Amino acid sequence: MNSIAKPVPRPSAESLPYWEGAREKKLLLQHCRSCGEFWFPPSAHCRRCLSQDFAWEEVSGHGRIYSFVVYHRNYHPAFEDELPYVVAIIELDEGPRLLSNIVGVPSQDVRCDLPVRAVFEDGGHGMMIPKFEICNGQW
Ligand SMILES: [Zn+2]
Repeated sequence: MNSIAKPVPRPSAESLPYWEGAREKKLLLQHCRSCGEFWFPPSAHCRRCLSQDFAWEEVSGHGRIYSFVVYHRNYHPAFEDELPYVVAIIELDEGPRLLSNIVGVPSQDVRCDLPVRAVFEDGGHGMMIPKFEICNGQW
C-alpha cells in the first residue's frame, strides 16, 4: 500500500472556476460571447477572436480519445500502485482538447477515437479531478 500523497492541483486565478466546477462534478469551460468558441486551458481572452467577453458554462463532458499513451514506468512514487495507467488527450464534443486519464478499463482496451465521458475522482484536499471513462455512446 502506498502512503505517499499525490500532487494536488493548485488553481490559478484564471483556472479557479474550472476547479470549482469540478468540485461540483461539473465540467466548466470558457465560452466566448462574441464568436461562440469554447476553449481550454483557461485564459483571459478567447483564443479565436481575442474577446474578453466570455462566460463559464457547463459542457457535456462527452468526447473522444484523440491520442493516448500507457505509462508503464513510474515517474512519481504516489502513482506506483496505478501502473500501468493511461494518459490521454480528450477531444470534447464542444471542440477543446484536454489532458487527462482514462479510467475504469484495462489499458490494453484503450483505443483512439473511442467515445468517453467525464467522471470525477476525489483528489484530496477538497479537489475533484476530471477523468474520463469509455462509454458506448449511451448516456
Ligand atoms: Zn471569440
